[in-house]
Formats: sequence, C-alpha cells, structure tokens
Amino acid sequence: MEPRTIDTVLFDLDDTLLDDSNAYKRAARRVAEEVAAERGVDADRLFREYVLQANGFWKKLSQEHLTLPIHDARAQLWSDALVASGVPVDAALAERCGERYTRYRAGNLELFPGALDLVIALRAHGCKIGIVSNGFAATHNEKVDRLGLRLHVDAVFLADEMGMVKPDPEIFRLACRTLGSEPECTAMIGDRYDRDIIGAAQVGLFTVLIDVHAIPLPEGARPPDAVVDAIADVLGVLPLRNGQGVPEGVPKRSGA
Ligand SMILES: [Mg+2]
Repeated sequence: MEPRTIDTVLFDLDDTLLDDSNAYKRAARRVAEEVAAERGVDADRLFREYVLQANGFWKKLSQEHLTLPIHDARAQLWSDALVASGVPVDAALAERCGERYTRYRAGNLELFPGALDLVIALRAHGCKIGIVSNGFAATHNEKVDRLGLRLHVDAVFLADEMGMVKPDPEIFRLACRTLGSEPECTAMIGDRYDRDIIGAAQVGLFTVLIDVHAIPLPEGARPPDAVVDAIADVLGVLPLRNGQGVPEGVPKRSGA
C-alpha cells in the first residue's frame, strides 16, 4: 500500500487558527467592568458568570441552535449572566452588553503566531485549504476577513450555513466533496477532540489535535493521528506529498 499523503488541509477556526479564548475573555472582562461601574455589581462575578454561560452554550451547541441568530443568543447569555450576578432582569441592558461584547471582541482578534505562515506554506506545497467551524455566518465570516485569511483559503464551511455542527461526519464529507479531495488525502486540524477529531476520524481523515486545552482524551478513545502543542508545529507532522518543512521560496513572515 502506498503511504498516505495529504493534499487538502481543513482547519477549525476558534482556538486553532485564532486565539479566540483570549479575545472573548478580554471582551467579556471589559463589558463586565463597564456594567460594574454603572450598576455597582461585582465585575469579577459577572465576568465569571458570562464565561460559564458562554462555555455552556458552545458545549451544548447542536443543530437546533443554528436557527437562533447569534445576536439574540449573545443577549440571552448576558441576560443569564446578569441575573446570576444579582442584577434584576433587564432586556435593554442585556442587549447593550451583547452589542458591546461583539464590538470589543472583534477588535481583539489575533491569529496564533505561525498560523498564517502555516497556511501559506501548505498552499506552496500545493494543498487546498478549508476552514470548518461551528461558528455562525454573522460573526465568523467577519473573523475570516478581518484576520486576512480569506485570500488564503479555498472554502469556508460554517455551521449555520451547512445546517450541521461538528462532529457530524457529514460535514467532513461535504468539505472533501466541495474541495474535490479524497478523505484519506485530507487532514483536519483542531483544538477539540470531541468536535474536530471524532467526526473527521470516522470519515477517514488524518487528524491533528492542537492540545491547547490539555483536556485528557475520553477513556478508550482512539487517539488523533498526531498531537502538537501549537499550530506552528503542524507542518512537521503532516505527511505531505512533497516532503515536510517549508518549501524553497516561501518568504518567512514574522510576528504573524
Ligand atoms: Mg476550536
């Protein structure tokens, strides 16, 4: 049997290509401090309640959540966090928190060091590139554009546009079909075993977990094909047709 080689690479977006945890926590902290100054609530408590609500939302995300506009979802998360922090129900305040949070968060977005270098190097290797995210069109298309990724990817697959959420294996089949690639020649790179790795592995993709959360794999789980500590290490573990490393002639960017 020929050794497998990769000609297509799919990336998760949040906490894989971009440092979303940092962006959203900084935005939530700023909103919490503003509300604290206006309403005299404990900023730390409100911040922690929001993080709890947001984590719960993304953890539970399933197909039925996709019809709720993300704008409304964020206002609801803030409303729940405010109530849990002792603020009486106030729809206008929750709405304002959601709007500010969205604005601050967009201003905090940054790619991980080496992320853009990696995408550029993979394309220089002749790879097609896709982004496969459980995010929403209303927020995640803007992320792709703001971060300058659009020019460097062949297709973007977002949960609400597909009507499916990872780990649904059909998403990975759809991505391969759209990009004209075979699953065994396609890699999926992501930060969540339960979202990014399981479904891709079922379809036969080469899977790479970026272990930023250091969450142990579930008992008896089939391990990813490769595990790395940071996105900058991904190029070294992919079985590329033309060998590993950065091809000649690719300018090395710094501070990306
Ligand atoms: Mg992610």
